[in-house]
Amino acid sequence: MNFWELKTGNYSSICSGILNKTNLRITAKESMMDSTYNETSLDSLCAALAAAMGIDPPEHAAPANEALLAYLNGRKADRLFLFNPDAIAQWIYRKYPQLFTEVRNIGELELPFRTVMPSVTPVCFGTFYTGAQPEVHGIRKYEKPVIRIDTLFDAMLRAGKKCVIVALKRCSMGNIFLERDMDYYLYDSIDEVNAKAAQLILEDRHDMMAVYNGNYDSVMHKTGPESLEALSEARANSHTFATYYAMIREHWKEHQTLMGFAMDHGCHEIDGNCGSHGLDMPEDINILHTYVMV
Ligand SMILES: [Zn+2]
Repeated sequence: MNFWELKTGNYSSICSGILNKTNLRITAKESMMDSTYNETSLDSLCAALAAAMGIDPPEHAAPANEALLAYLNGRKADRLFLFNPDAIAQWIYRKYPQLFTEVRNIGELELPFRTVMPSVTPVCFGTFYTGAQPEVHGIRKYEKPVIRIDTLFDAMLRAGKKCVIVALKRCSMGNIFLERDMDYYLYDSIDEVNAKAAQLILEDRHDMMAVYNGNYDSVMHKTGPESLEALSEARANSHTFATYYAMIREHWKEHQTLMGFAMDHGCHEIDGNCGSHGLDMPEDINILHTYVMV
């Protein structure tokens, strides 16, 4: 096993083992300071996910994330399940680890990323699923046009794989990747999204699933990132991920599935006990993904 050097803005140290379990590894250069940024851009994720699936990356994707490749260590997945909880900031994840017990117990790899600017949902998920910077994928503010450049969904479809997005009707994930020859299940509530995703796991007919949960984001905007109401939604995201993990272990036994707890951007508190994001500040930019091969 490779252990990666953890460097921060003010000090560096070698992390091994990490946290309170033996198989969860922090990889490389997560900022531990509120004032500094993670080093690795979110644009490196997409090509690494493609590599995990043994397919060519999307046309404009940045070079593949080395930490994820090292974790894979040559192993290939034939399934990809990405759970996308909106706006879970790295600082929230680190400050309230007890809310994410399931993700930390399940996960084998933590990937700190620096998301893109402006740190709003369609811009960040645009980069997440294309591997390209906003000026290349074309969404540079809060708007939800269909992305026309090559995406991970297109790359998967070219390789003959079946893809599905399960998301809210009006959210970015439910709009910016439309018009591909794949399945979309779009609903008005998170509960419907998660019920459908569970059904699709049982039906066992998609090679790539992207499941969007925007409940932390929507509550955080109204009551603040650290309100009981918002943190309860973050807690729910961890439980939901654990449920999918249990289902995939049981029902996709014939497959190697790479699973990710993978958000778009972080958040910060603003006046009036509300929450926001979109700015060039570590609270909004630093995120921490968790992956496991099932
Ligand atoms: Zn978002």
